[in-house]
Amino acid sequence: MELPFAEAWKIKMVEPIRKSTRAEREKWLEEAHNNIFMLKSEQVYIDLLTDSGTGAMSDRQWAALMMGDESYSGARSFFEFKDTVTRLTGFKNVIPTHQGRAAENVLFSYLVKQGNVVPGNAHFDTTKGHIESRKAFAIDVTTDEAKDTQLEAPFKGNVSLEKLEKVLKENQGNVPFMVLTVTNNTVGGQPVSMKNIRETSELCHKYGVPVVMDSARFAENAYFIKIREKGFENKTIKEIAKEMFSYVDCMTMSAKKDGLVNMGGFIATNKDDWYEGAKKFCIPFEGFLTYGGMNGRDMAALAVGLDENTEFDMLDTRIHQVQYLAKKLDEYGIPYQRPAGGHAIFVDADKVLTNVPKEEFPAQTLTCELYLESGVRACEIGYILADRDPVTRENRFGGLDFVRLCIPRRVYTNNHMDVIAASLKNVFDRRDSIKHGVRITWEAELMRHFTVQLERIK
Ligand SMILES: *Cc1c(COP(=O)(O)O)cnc(C)c1O
Repeated sequence: MELPFAEAWKIKMVEPIRKSTRAEREKWLEEAHNNIFMLKSEQVYIDLLTDSGTGAMSDRQWAALMMGDESYSGARSFFEFKDTVTRLTGFKNVIPTHQGRAAENVLFSYLVKQGNVVPGNAHFDTTKGHIESRKAFAIDVTTDEAKDTQLEAPFKGNVSLEKLEKVLKENQGNVPFMVLTVTNNTVGGQPVSMKNIRETSELCHKYGVPVVMDSARFAENAYFIKIREKGFENKTIKEIAKEMFSYVDCMTMSAKKDGLVNMGGFIATNKDDWYEGAKKFCIPFEGFLTYGGMNGRDMAALAVGLDENTEFDMLDTRIHQVQYLAKKLDEYGIPYQRPAGGHAIFVDADKVLTNVPKEEFPAQTLTCELYLESGVRACEIGYILADRDPVTRENRFGGLDFVRLCIPRRVYTNNHMDVIAASLKNVFDRRDSIKHGVRITWEAELMRHFTVQLERIK
């Protein structure tokens, strides 16, 4: 008999979690203004809010923490971290920051001017925020394949070269860089092919525009290239990742994702002028150049995390778990962005809550229903997250409306996946009785989803 698939690790430390009653959850969600970001973690049974900073570190990472060098300048931990980044990416200049958005803040403070245009394949929310808050414009150039959630295509995170060229042509001299996000989080953790990375960069370079890779999940992207793209099946994840970076000019990184740490980020580039320019913003915003917002021990654990998570078995374990959950949803007929992405399942809420109009935020409504059902905390990646148009102040209903079931790395077992799937099935089975959604009672101007307050429409 062929042996079944199993995790490439065993568990050394556990953390208790607690179930709650429906009555408790009703009260807690009301107190949280129907915004799951406002819940306390003890009020959550299985937490799928994010895979950001929520992974389990390995014994080797915990050991590295103890060896952290906390010197203000010239810390050994910085050089170990920097050398790891250079070895994995080929970039020699490395600026540490406290997380990914801080890397964006430091780099964009140098690069983005009012009125600039920055194309990208579905900018991440903080990336978009850092562009728009500088009165510049983030233009989405993702392939249209991504919009059809039921279409099975291997690289739905890809850039549409046609859309990109149009933006580059119409805005010559006004595009400081292009952002290439891997995997493409916003459209469902969908990967970008090596061919598309190469062609995107060639096109940008033809117009004299550098490319910044938003690399939060670069290792998962490399895994999908190995599994799905011809010519890469025999390459290692490390070889594939290095080739991905070889086409672009710079990377920003949220190390809380594929770096396997709770906090951290960085910028890396071979462009000496960008390095010099960004350095000036690192010191006042983040800290001195050899710690930039991280402890020595964080950098030590990150160096180990980057190395571990660019090994095939680690990624294979993770992606298998996401696919295990996807298979359950298939069994129950629940529609999600196909095929399953790298770090999460993105449930297509508009197709589930067909009675709830767009204006009442179906994905946010489904997120609330799922929490009330069982204490599973998912996250809306939809119309609320999309924010309002900066010019018209209208809600942006043009994109997709997802509930993201985001799987932390090395944290839950497949039994937890069974509970998640069953909870969603119970909501799905009574979907026709859900006729009303939610209404916004308070919102921030930018990145409103974190703090928005909502009431349930009766
Ligand atoms: C998480 C993330 C960021 C922002 O990083 P933080 O560490 O959360 O500040 C930027 N881009 C992408 C694609 C991300 O997933």
